[in-house]
Amino acid sequence: MDSLAALARDRGIRYFLIAFTDLFGVQRAKLVPASSIDLMATSGAGFAGFAAWLDLSPADADVLAIPDRDSLFQLPWQPEVAWMPADLYLNDQPLEQAPRWVLKRVLSVAESLGYRPKTGVECEFFLLDETGDAIADPRDRQAKPCYDQQSLMRRYDLITQISEAMEELGWGPYQSDHEDANGQFEMNWTYADALVTADRQAFFKYMVKTLAERQGLRATFMPKPFADLTGNGCHMHLSLWNREGTTNTFVDPVATAPLSTLGYQFIGGLLHSAASLCALTNPTINSYKRINAPATTSGATWSPNGISYSGNNRTHLIRIPDAGRFELRLADGAANPYLLPAAAIAAGLDGIQNKRDPGPRYDNDNYAQPLPPGTVPTLPEHLLDALRSLQESTVLTEGLGAAFTSAYLKLKHQEWRSFCAEITPWERATTLDC
Ligand code: ADP
Ligand code: MG
Ligand code: MG
Ligand code: MG
Ligand code: MG
Repeated sequence: MDSLAALARDRGIRYFLIAFTDLFGVQRAKLVPASSIDLMATSGAGFAGFAAWLDLSPADADVLAIPDRDSLFQLPWQPEVAWMPADLYLNDQPLEQAPRWVLKRVLSVAESLGYRPKTGVECEFFLLDETGDAIADPRDRQAKPCYDQQSLMRRYDLITQISEAMEELGWGPYQSDHEDANGQFEMNWTYADALVTADRQAFFKYMVKTLAERQGLRATFMPKPFADLTGNGCHMHLSLWNREGTTNTFVDPVATAPLSTLGYQFIGGLLHSAASLCALTNPTINSYKRINAPATTSGATWSPNGISYSGNNRTHLIRIPDAGRFELRLADGAANPYLLPAAAIAAGLDGIQNKRDPGPRYDNDNYAQPLPPGTVPTLPEHLLDALRSLQESTVLTEGLGAAFTSAYLKLKHQEWRSFCAEITPWERATTLDC
């Protein structure tokens, strides 16, 4: 086995961050000096699982995090540190509920069927002041702020620092812009194998928050931080390649349709499981303020309000912008980078295996002229609705594994109950004089 200590000497790395993403998407890590990394990388860094969002008890043995040697990110802004995503073990067994295992499990099923999924994500974020209460740039006030050149260029230092970091890491960044809400930005890099993109997405969130902090800003991926502004989406683009990664099976072989039959069946699977998928793509209480939402001050929410697909049309849940791939517009910035692709791919593979028909494509402007009620199923109205759907879904329970689903449902139901224990200003305003 290659020595990480030797690699550290070659590359000037003094510390390793051995990191994992828990069920709620929080990144947990231990900082390990290069002198101890080889031992740690073999025997694992120890964590008390109960102290993170994992379904474990304080009496359980240590969870051991073993870093993935194929995935090392030397921090471009602090090159003496390397971030390594880890896989979790408990009592010498993989901890099946851990999100990175859940994704690996789904990818191994895909591989056994002869497929290699490739994904690209668009992680929108806001730049707020340090308190997190207000948009940091007081001059960022346009009613239609999307692509606002002036506001983008006031953030030149931060955006280019992140862009150059992605370049250095070899991700193929290709554009950055001001998004549809005041204070909101998006930075795009090139799609890759689903696990590679998932590790990059986890790292991207860490990088954006860190570099923003260094400039006195607070970056947030929260789904809907402001009721009247467009929320933070996390669109995911998907294509399914052969095992060798040489042929995209979503490309129609006779090039008459935007997607192959396989591609439409995959979409059929996503539409079939969309309601239960929301428990993972839209995992917070706040997520449901972004979907099914009223129009924002820019004129549109840009998020779906029904379970339908279209062509190059951004008002539906699935958009097909280009031949050979499609965009799932459902997920938001709170989606766990590992559970988002895991759930989407599990649902899509079910579509292929059961040859699910996605039904008709809709070309209406689904904001201005929504489909008549009852035409297509609706999305969950709140987190509990989505959790109940997930509980009922054999596709996702089996696809993601019973150990994961029961752990996730348990912790998310706890979160729901904790929310329900709150008495909100809205309740006082509407009920005090009842
Ligand atoms: P838009 O804003 O139009 O939805 P973006 O350019 O912001 O699109 O993001 C598109 C994402 O889709 C990028 O990550 C890109 O690399 C990815 N992508 C492009 N082609 C494919 C493909 N064949 N499979 C998976 N992802 C793809
Ligand atoms: Mg201790
Ligand atoms: Mg985009
Ligand atoms: Mg966007
Ligand atoms: Mg998009």
